[in-house]
Amino acid sequence: DRINDRIKKNATFCSFEFFPPKTVNGAANLIKICDRLASTMNPLFCDITWKTGGDNCSDAPTSTMTIGSTMLSYCGIDTMMHMTCVGQSRSDIIRILNKAKILGLKNILALRGDLPHNCSSWQPVDDGFNHAIDLVRFIRKTYGDYFVICVAGYPTGHPDASSYKADLENLKAKVDAGADFIITQLFFKTSTFIKFVNDCRSIGITCPILPGIMPIQAYQSLENISRLSKLEVPQEIWDKLHAVKDNDEAVRNFGIDYAIQMCSQLLNSGVVNGLHFYTLNREYATLAILKSLGLCAVRPQRPLPWKTSANHVRCMETV
Ligand code: FAD
Repeated sequence: DRINDRIKKNATFCSFEFFPPKTVNGAANLIKICDRLASTMNPLFCDITWKTGGDNCSDAPTSTMTIGSTMLSYCGIDTMMHMTCVGQSRSDIIRILNKAKILGLKNILALRGDLPHNCSSWQPVDDGFNHAIDLVRFIRKTYGDYFVICVAGYPTGHPDASSYKADLENLKAKVDAGADFIITQLFFKTSTFIKFVNDCRSIGITCPILPGIMPIQAYQSLENISRLSKLEVPQEIWDKLHAVKDNDEAVRNFGIDYAIQMCSQLLNSGVVNGLHFYTLNREYATLAILKSLGLCAVRPQRPLPWKTSANHVRCMETV
């Protein structure tokens, strides 16, 4: 079953984004977190981000591809690998996609990636790709339907876009080029997401659109994330957070309560049947939100492949 088909089928589901850790210990911890989340929450898939210019595809335990394939083979979770195309040559892209195939990674979040800070001097690679749509087209043309392709959507418009409308047209073009579903940038108001979905539907985007939920986990990280993503945090959120700024637990509890409210409004709206969490590699907030929504035991757990193979080894030994 491909994840895009399962998204359409499932009553209610969740999915989790992680980023590759810096150290080997961090990698081991992340896999433990994924394993725990897999057995308690049974996510429809997990995804792992890609660092433009970073070590994404080596065999190091911390690379995107190693983490992705470990989530898949060890934790038994369907995995989606993010992949940016900016600054990569065509042969780099082919090498990465061929390796993904060998590792069994069948789901790609196809992205442009952020341009380097000094954009004026930035030159695209000669035979490379300038926009996510080029990557989507290339994957479909070269690999047919082998990969499920997801693309990014921006409920308030991408910051580089000439207008919100132009960005929506870009999203439609990415879907027409072969994307199967969309995950959105994080947002702070349910109404922003619902308007975005309605706008997408009105221009003929019919594929699933998953809301990207980022539980606020720390004051400083909210400041960093909103600055990097060029997102405006509503004043009412800052007002509430200013009051508890130096109390990490209170900030996290506010973030959990706020996300619970948003998620239940989203599910009740009937616009979505799934929630995609930016976990920031932490499980506490995501678990608390899903438990409060009553979503932890929605579906039966699948056996983990390593458990199956351990049983298999035991049977072989008995024989
Ligand atoms: P595109 O769809 O190519 O759009 C980029 C901009 O170009 C938009 O403003 C669009 O309107 C405009 N545009 C597109 N086509 C044209 C055209 N033909 N002519 C003129 N303008 C055009 N970044 C990472 O580095 N690693 C990650 O793992 C990562 N994961 C992400 C996951 C999600 C769910 C989201 C929402 C973002 C993620 N990002 C990640 C950030 C992303 O790389 C940046 O937002 C990037 O600036 C745009 O990527 P895109 O794929 O949306 O680009």
